[in-house]
Amino acid sequence: MLSEFDLIAKYFTKPVRNASLGIGDDCALLTPVPGTQLAISTDMLVSGTHFFADTDPRQLGHKSLAVNLSDLAAMGAEPVAFTLALSLPKPDEAWLKSFSEGMFSLANICHCELIGGDTTKGPLNICITVFGRIPLGQALRRDRAEYGDDIWVSGTIGDARLALAHCRNEITLDKQDFNAVSPRLHMPIPRIMLGMALRKNANSALDISDGLLGDLTHILDASGVGATLNTDSLPISPVLARQTEDWRMLCALTGGDDYELCFTAPPSKRSRVLEASARTGVPVTRIGFIENEPGLRLRNSHGEPVTFSRHSFDHFLAGSK
Ligand code: ADP
Ligand code: MG
Repeated sequence: MLSEFDLIAKYFTKPVRNASLGIGDDCALLTPVPGTQLAISTDMLVSGTHFFADTDPRQLGHKSLAVNLSDLAAMGAEPVAFTLALSLPKPDEAWLKSFSEGMFSLANICHCELIGGDTTKGPLNICITVFGRIPLGQALRRDRAEYGDDIWVSGTIGDARLALAHCRNEITLDKQDFNAVSPRLHMPIPRIMLGMALRKNANSALDISDGLLGDLTHILDASGVGATLNTDSLPISPVLARQTEDWRMLCALTGGDDYELCFTAPPSKRSRVLEASARTGVPVTRIGFIENEPGLRLRNSHGEPVTFSRHSFDHFLAGSK
């Protein structure tokens, strides 16, 4: 049977460029670049809680790293390196091969290298820590939104939740529609280039992992401001646009797992934000603005209040079964 050391050597050890020392010693070594700050983030994915034990290992390898890289994107950081703590029930070589291929294909695209970790026997659990670089003082924080800022969102939101709804038999999508939305759930693309391009342009940012309403509220609370969103302006895919209004709202407003960026920037930076979008090939949409009055208000394009609460959402789902 594969020993721990063989497993690490065979599936996880690759040459490093960014780090001064990679896998093999007691510690990896990163040499700080003068004038930069290190951005560090950890996410743990637990079998049964964050994914099913029989999830395709290639997708799991991709997603485990993607959710961490998305945190770097949300800060405007450039990926440098990551560590991987892995707890495995048994060293299943077919599983390890696919998992490491999924993880490294994304790692290579993002120039983020594996520099260390830990491997133990136990229930399947994947914990990744990413390290990124940001010029001193340019990090996109949650607590810097200002009165008058536009609120923007990248890409489209809600498809990951729509795909999940299909997987949970809450709705039925035809094959073509499911194939269009399921990569958003299983293979999210971290918006790294956009995050970096927003440095100096955005006042605040985060990635949408738990749903727009909840995540935007983190920015509002941290910054001590409020906001109004125009629900008619939310960017959704053609597949989501064809669903009932209840599902459109539910997916776009509360659906997590899309890993798009939500950010705020002053109106004077609109053309800069659009340039950043064009340069990185990631569409961005203005969905509202920051106000002094605390709280998050929803209105349609006619300025009429839109009611949507967690309560109605739970009620709606209970009624749909
Ligand atoms: P130690 O006992 O000193 O903690 P280990 O035997 O756990 O070292 O690990 C040996 C080397 O392999 C270390 O450099 C460690 O960072 C690396 N490593 C262990 N598990 C992993 C993993 N899952 N992915 C990447 N590197 C790993
Ligand atoms: Mg160890």
